[in-house]
Amino acid sequence: MNLARFTPVRFAHLPTPLEPMIRLTEALSNGLGGGPELWVKRDDCTGLAGGGNKTRKLEYLLGDALANDADTLVTQGAVQSNHVRQTAAAAARFGLACEIILEHRTGSQAIDYNRSGNVLLDELLGAKLRVVPAGTDMNQALAEVAAEVAERGGRPYVIPGGGSNIIGALGYVECAFELVAQANEAGLEIDRIVTATGSAGTHAGLVAGLAVMGADIPVLGIGVRAPKDVQEANVFKLAQDTAELLGHRDRVSREMVVADCDFVGAGYGLIDDSVVDALKLAARTEGLLFDPVYTGKALKGLIALAQIGRFDGETVVFLHTGGAQGLSGYQSEMEGKLA
Ligand SMILES: *Cc1c(COP(=O)(O)O)cnc(C)c1O
Repeated sequence: MNLARFTPVRFAHLPTPLEPMIRLTEALSNGLGGGPELWVKRDDCTGLAGGGNKTRKLEYLLGDALANDADTLVTQGAVQSNHVRQTAAAAARFGLACEIILEHRTGSQAIDYNRSGNVLLDELLGAKLRVVPAGTDMNQALAEVAAEVAERGGRPYVIPGGGSNIIGALGYVECAFELVAQANEAGLEIDRIVTATGSAGTHAGLVAGLAVMGADIPVLGIGVRAPKDVQEANVFKLAQDTAELLGHRDRVSREMVVADCDFVGAGYGLIDDSVVDALKLAARTEGLLFDPVYTGKALKGLIALAQIGRFDGETVVFLHTGGAQGLSGYQSEMEGKLA
């Protein structure tokens, strides 16, 4: 499938599986036939150096980078960024150099946070890392590194944080198509999709894809950083711009974009006991590895909302966006909490 004028290069393992979560469904049922029937879309299994949601975006972004004859990918993220790890792997796969700017967003001084998890993998994958303080203007930093690469004769291709622009979001338009086709084949009626939402490309791509297809399935994004008004505005703009690329801007309406940002806790990348509880529940009911920054927070939200009856009687698909490769970066934070 080629969407709009951007041609992806193919390296993701697709389609990702759509699986029932029988024991997690049981754990969240209220015993009165309430609670949701839970399924999981396994985008943690996209296959690129541990996988995750950035891989689908990178198929489109790499397609554009190669079409523009780039020889160096330049991107940014938080220290434990999964996007950076997948970008470093995609660069290696296509023989490109990779320049990374890591924002020290959480301020954590823990050695495992700063050296283990995704950071270890970034270095193994051969990316060149530099770390800048929290609050740095990351878009400006990207432009500076790109200029540096060009000055020494390189051909940089800048990928925004999270790969979240209209090109990257096409990966999640495609995911929406893939998921609806799988559900149809399985005779499954999806009432709602739940996903973590951060830099917005995943949420926006899903909304745009469903809208363009005319599939009336609401998407609930669970925020991991920004407040609700900011997050919804970001997702809405990107969803509209992505739908425009597909010739259907008018099909995305503001009401289609819903984010619940009440589960961020102390802040982006900061974990609390309820996140650890969510990680334990997923691991111990389903054998699934969720992460402390994104999927764990989203599951924490899903659990809390299920407990107040929000999804009663619904078939809910949870998009597993990956992230387990960051878990060892949080070892000291979770020490003593896993009993
Ligand atoms: C980046 C990321 C997200 C959020 O996706 P966005 O497209 O940035 O909103 C969710 N889960 C994981 C594991 C991620 O790495």
